[in-house]
Amino acid sequence: MKKSKIKIDSQFCKSCRFCIENCPKGAIVLSEKLNTKGYVVSEFLTDKNCTGCATCALVCPEAAIEVYRD
Ligand code: SF4
Ligand code: SF4
Repeated sequence: MKKSKIKIDSQFCKSCRFCIENCPKGAIVLSEKLNTKGYVVSEFLTDKNCTGCATCALVCPEAAIEVYRD
């Protein structure tokens, strides 16, 4: 089965949650990890059937998300 995915560059994440609030699949959550700047970083969930819609990448103000469409 084909599966799209995203990669979040945690060093750029500033915990704004825009990606989490806008993903239609609920495929992004806030993790329990901090980056070196002290922000709690968001995390991609591989089991939520990401469609590769790229909404998360578009709304991220830090351009921290790359989408790999399959
Ligand atoms: S590409 Fe679309 S479905 Fe996949 S994580 Fe981003 S917003 Fe969600
Ligand atoms: S939209 Fe970008 S900066 Fe905001 S929580 Fe998501 S990955 Fe982090």
